[in-house]
Amino acid sequence: MPNPKDLLSKARLAWAHEWLKAPKTFYSGGHFLSGDSKNTWRVMNPSTEQVLCEVPIADEKAINHIVNSAQTAFTAGTWSEASRKVRREALIRIGQLIREHGEELATLESLCNGKLFSESLIDDVPESADVFDYYAGWIDKLYGDTVPVDPGFLNYTRREPVGVCALIVPWNFPLLLACWKIAPALAMGNTVIVKPSEYTPLSVLRLAEIIHEEGNLPPGVFNVVMGDAQTGKLISEHPGIHKVSFTGSTAVGKKVLTGAAQSNLKTVTLELGGKSPNILFADLPDLEGAIERSCTAMFSHKGEKCSEPTRILIEDSIYDQVVAGLIKRANAIRLGDAFEEGVDQGPQAHQAHFKKVMEYIELGKQEGAKLVCGGVAEQKNGKGYFVRPTIFSEVKPEMRIAQDEIFGPVLVAIRFKTEEEAIRIANQTPYGLAAGLWTADLSRAHRVAARLDAGMVFVNRYGCYDFASPFGGFKQSGWGKEMALHSLDAYTKTKSVWIKL
Ligand code: NAD
Repeated sequence: MPNPKDLLSKARLAWAHEWLKAPKTFYSGGHFLSGDSKNTWRVMNPSTEQVLCEVPIADEKAINHIVNSAQTAFTAGTWSEASRKVRREALIRIGQLIREHGEELATLESLCNGKLFSESLIDDVPESADVFDYYAGWIDKLYGDTVPVDPGFLNYTRREPVGVCALIVPWNFPLLLACWKIAPALAMGNTVIVKPSEYTPLSVLRLAEIIHEEGNLPPGVFNVVMGDAQTGKLISEHPGIHKVSFTGSTAVGKKVLTGAAQSNLKTVTLELGGKSPNILFADLPDLEGAIERSCTAMFSHKGEKCSEPTRILIEDSIYDQVVAGLIKRANAIRLGDAFEEGVDQGPQAHQAHFKKVMEYIELGKQEGAKLVCGGVAEQKNGKGYFVRPTIFSEVKPEMRIAQDEIFGPVLVAIRFKTEEEAIRIANQTPYGLAAGLWTADLSRAHRVAARLDAGMVFVNRYGCYDFASPFGGFKQSGWGKEMALHSLDAYTKTKSVWIKL
């Protein structure tokens, strides 16, 4: 990975601090407006615990205004009925703009989320740009069908935009997860209202400014609202919204579903939590490589990734060797400010989350798991929500640290003796987002992959992602898939048209 020092232009950090001084407002109908809400949220830097800026929290009046803007734009057809060329070029241009403003966006992302600047710049920003190219390419490739019905009739299907789509995203990949939704929703002709997490609204706000300055989307097509749980609830229950695409916790996902059911039965896509297993069989092809990758997949982005391998299941005969390798690597991780040279891991994204992670570490000790590394906070100059990479060994599958999503740098290591036992333990949580397995036995790879109750299975390389491959979980990890054709299904509705011949 390149050195962050080589990547960061100090001027960008200075630019960001100037940018933060300007009032932050919602983006609605092609205008920035603050509304009259007196309710505000302080956006913090989790490395320094300093306030970065205050943003307004949308109340019912502001939400109504924004929904109205998005509805008006949708009904006007300036976007939904625009030519394919116009929409394609607009999306490609947004991707270019994200690249051109990449350093700014990455700086804002790391300031409020705490992830390394290099992670924001190298992982998040390019992917956020590329997803616009990917879905721009789909605009003229999604066909309806001609249906072979009985003679005397012609029956065909049309793929139509859903309408006003609310896109609610969490704080762990604020820009990237928003773009995963914005690009396909716009490609299919919808209008969107993006609600970033209250903890990390900066990059999406900057994206609104960039799009506004470029002026390549008709007013009201792209809207941004800031807010908290109450704002999210107002959105879920709003009768003027036709679709909610939600990424966040399982608990809140259920609330979104309730809100949708009790209002207008808007359609809902849910990308929720995980507690993903990563099974290391003793016959794996490259032990050191497997340990290295498992460690990176677990601890990068400070363990705040929904699909990270938080439960490592290790076959008895290699258990001690693997745990020793994990401890060695985890102990070598250097904690520090997202912009500091030589740092491997930033702080947890916010104070309440930091406390939750530390409470789980205490719980693990109380449950009788063996703490073999980390387990402590590590402040810098007396500040920051830093948690040392933590590993619990000899964990029992039924312990809460092996069942609950912790969403921080806390890995649990579980011992197994047989393939059957590994599969049983792997499937033994309410979640089913992802799973990994490592083996040189081709038959076992297919056999186990088929029996893992998870939306994504990685064999001999944990964590592979591509816009062309479906992303999303089973069980309480979600409803529906994102990426590829799946996102296009989520943002279109299919109409069946009958013609009597
Ligand atoms: P969260 O559920 O607390 O919040 C997510 C978003 O929902 C935020 O914008 C928040 O303001 C909003 N919200 C809060 N209460 C709401 C309500 N009652 N109604 C509607 N919206 C509401 O999640 P978080 O703490 O921001 O993010 C961490 C969670 O996200 C983890 O559980 C993680 O696994 C999950 N996640 C899942 C995926 C995936 O693709 N499956 C990806 C990233 C993160």
